Formats: sequence, C-alpha cells, structure tokens
Amino acid sequence: MSKIYLDNNATTKCDLEVFNSMLPYLGEQFGNPSSVYSLGREVKEKVQEARRNISELINAKEEEIIFTSCASEANVCAIMSAVRSYPLKKHIITTKVEHASIMETMKYLESVGYRVTYLSVDNYGRISLEEIKKSICDDTCLITVMMANNEIGNIYPVKEIGEIARRHHILFHCDAVQAIGKVPIDVSLMNIDTLSLAGHKIHAPKGIGVLYVKNGIPFVPLIFGHQEKNRRGGTENVPYIIGLGKAVEIILKDQYQSNEKIEKLRDYMEDEIKKEIDDTMIYGDLDKRLPNTSSIAFRDVDANQLMLLLESFGIFVSTGSACNSEIAEDSHVLVACGVNLEQYSPIRISLSKYNTKEEIDVFVKHLVQCVSMIRRRK
Ligand code: PLP
Repeated sequence: MSKIYLDNNATTKCDLEVFNSMLPYLGEQFGNPSSVYSLGREVKEKVQEARRNISELINAKEEEIIFTSCASEANVCAIMSAVRSYPLKKHIITTKVEHASIMETMKYLESVGYRVTYLSVDNYGRISLEEIKKSICDDTCLITVMMANNEIGNIYPVKEIGEIARRHHILFHCDAVQAIGKVPIDVSLMNIDTLSLAGHKIHAPKGIGVLYVKNGIPFVPLIFGHQEKNRRGGTENVPYIIGLGKAVEIILKDQYQSNEKIEKLRDYMEDEIKKEIDDTMIYGDLDKRLPNTSSIAFRDVDANQLMLLLESFGIFVSTGSACNSEIAEDSHVLVACGVNLEQYSPIRISLSKYNTKEEIDVFVKHLVQCVSMIRRRK
C-alpha cells in the first residue's frame, strides 16, 4: 500500500538535496568548526554559508543567527534570556494558542512568581491588538506571540505586535516555526527582537533549530560556552546546520512559488471535501491562514477514530499538534477558540510541495468512505 503523508506541520520529509548536502560532513569532512587547521576552517566556512542563507531569508545580519538543537530550545532560551535580563520585571504577555515549549515555560515562570497574561482568541482563533495594549504594564518584560499557529494555521499580526512592543520598550519574541518558508519573514520590518525556527518543518532534519537575536538587545545564554560567540555552548551540529542551510537555499530560490501550488491544492481539497461530505466545518481564520493547513471537522465524527481509519488506508493526518498527541486531552488551541468539539472534532491536514492532486483525490475518496462508516456506526 502506498503511503500518503498529509501531516507536514508535524514534520517534513528531508529533501534529497538536503540529505546529500549533509553526507560529506558525516564522513570525511568531520572537522570541528572551532579548530584552526584547515579541516576545521573548511567546515566553519560551510557553517557560515548556512548562517548567511538564514540571515538572508529573514532579513537579519549573519551574527544575529545562533544555531540551537531545536526550536523548543530557541523558544526557551529567548524567554529565559528576557526574564534574566530584566530581573525586576515580573509580567509576560503571550497567547492561549502557543506551542508547548512556550506554554510549559510560562507555567514554570508562574510557579516561581511571574504573572502571565494569556491573550484570548475568538472562535476563529484571532487575537486582539487592543487586548495586548491593555495588558501592558510597567512590570512587563516580554511579549511572546507565534507568527503562525501549528494546528489551525492562523497567521498573527506580528508586525503590529512588534510595533506595540517597541513603543513600550518591551522585548518581543516570535515563534516562527510554522511560518518559515510559508510566509515572508522580515525581522527588521516586523520589529522582532528574538525569533525561533526549526529545520524539520522545511525539509531539513529534526534536531536543528535557530534563534535570531537582534544586535544590541540584552542576552543571557541558556547553555554557557564559547561557541556561537559565547551565546550557545556546545560543538555545532555541523551536518544538520549544513542541511538546514541547504533547505533555506532551496526556499530562497523558490521565492515562495511552491506555496501558490500548495494553497491551490489545499483549496481544491477543501472544495472537494465540502462537495462530497455534508456538515463539515473548517476551523481557523480563513482569510489569514497558512497556505498548507486545513483543520477540518465532520459533524458527529470523532477525529481520533477518523485518523485511525485513514491510517488503515495508508493516509497520515493528525488530530492536532504532534507534541500533544500522546496526551489524551482536547487541544488547548481549539479549547481556546471555544468551539464545539463534542460535535465537530477536527483532523489537521497539512500539505507540502511533495503532495500531488492524485494523492488528494485518493485521500478525499477514502475520507468520504471513512466519514460515512463512522456516521453509520452511530
Ligand atoms: N513551535 C511551533 C509552532 C511548532 O509547531 C513546533 C514543532 O512542532 C515547535 C515550536 C518546536 O520545534 P522543535 O520540534 O524543533 O523543538
């Protein structure tokens, strides 16, 4: 049975070009970039090339890019750096729909005396800029808001939030993991102080991330050491950094053209589904959504049952964030949206440049069967 992978917000398949770019650095080119002899210098030059590509993609300076082990590390590092830089300020603003790496850090900070404002979202998952403005106080040291949501795909007004933060001299961190490669990112235009990225959402391997830190802002490392200009200790994961650099080079060449194709395919898929299945509901802000994401529910169809049935046909979708899939709880994102999960529990379909119309047709055919099987059993 051939497999149809439709869960690209969880992770993506490594590009063959990316895979091949890494191989020499797992073999003969094994030097440590900190070594001064040629074996190290050559590797260092390739690491710098990756850094250049990433800085170009987000309009940053090369020295503002720090490699980390993952985006979760980058998120935690940015938050802990902000609170340690302003030890007298004890208030943070975030949203109710952030990734677990942010949410869990907030819980920890609350346990040690911080006050956290979790911005609410409406039924479409949208936040209010007015609520941000009202939440700011003299004690606020950080605003952290994601650029795009992993479950419903909403794109948040990061530029406007950055402007508010700047006006009040508050640090602004942005988790851009789901946005990279899907929406243009300009850290300067968007007034972003720190930003996180992950390789595995853009066809590079898992286990490599980036933290952008704007020149001149206060910074306290999470892992002390000499690498990355004293900002992140630990010998660099050279092969994965080079793989990430290649994945970004591919995005730079593509100039977001793949996204047009992906968006058309997503819209075609949603139209076909709505034509074939009645009582469907699509979650999120349909006017401002990632081009690849669809959070879709069918009345009286349990999403977990549907996901498992689809898997029996070799089709992989999810019921929310991969990080929460082992926890039998409703998605915090959908709970925050206040939607009727009893009646309409969604599956998340997230496409990549590798998906084809033929795959979508096969998927829709099986989806129709699965939904009617579940509804008949009721
Ligand atoms: N932030 C968001 C929005 C994500 O979707 C993810 C991964 O799913 C992360 C952060 C964490 O990335 P990593 O797996 O590299 O730690």
